[in-house]
Amino acid sequence: MGLKEYRAKRDFSRTPEPEGKEEKARRSQELIYVIQKHQATHLHYDLRLEEEGVLKSWAIPKEPPLNPGVKRLAVETEDHPLGYEDFEGVIPEGEYGAGTVEIWDKGSYVPLELGPGKKIIEIKGKKLKGTYALIKIKSKNGSDKNWLFFKISKERAQIPSFPSFKSRKKVKK
Ligand code: MN
Repeated sequence: MGLKEYRAKRDFSRTPEPEGKEEKARRSQELIYVIQKHQATHLHYDLRLEEEGVLKSWAIPKEPPLNPGVKRLAVETEDHPLGYEDFEGVIPEGEYGAGTVEIWDKGSYVPLELGPGKKIIEIKGKKLKGTYALIKIKSKNGSDKNWLFFKISKERAQIPSFPSFKSRKKVKK
């Protein structure tokens, strides 16, 4: 896809987003994984995976799954430049994607199985960890941009547990 569509949608004299460039080589041994929380007209989460010198991108309308059992729609969007994984900021009113972008999770990924419309990857993030699948689906409206994103590996995310309200009340006494 390249960055043509990314650039065409943005006015870099107005948006703080990086203009970026296509890169021929990987920047490091590890492939970039990032999810950016994007409070635009509708809140969504932008999943980006480094592939062939760009960040392949999907918009996920709900919080990405930490555990198996939840399948999320992931709508393919335009490729973003390498370097975008560090972007946080406010895209001004009137510009494409106007709203606040913040990094929600970041790390690297390992491709385990890649095919047309199928990506099985190991995600090494702070929130998302383990084997995940991205599977392209056919939609009724004929769109070929829809994928499903879900966790395959069984291990559950280690989310710090907090004492219940009742037990906290007891501690205070
Ligand atoms: Mn977005």
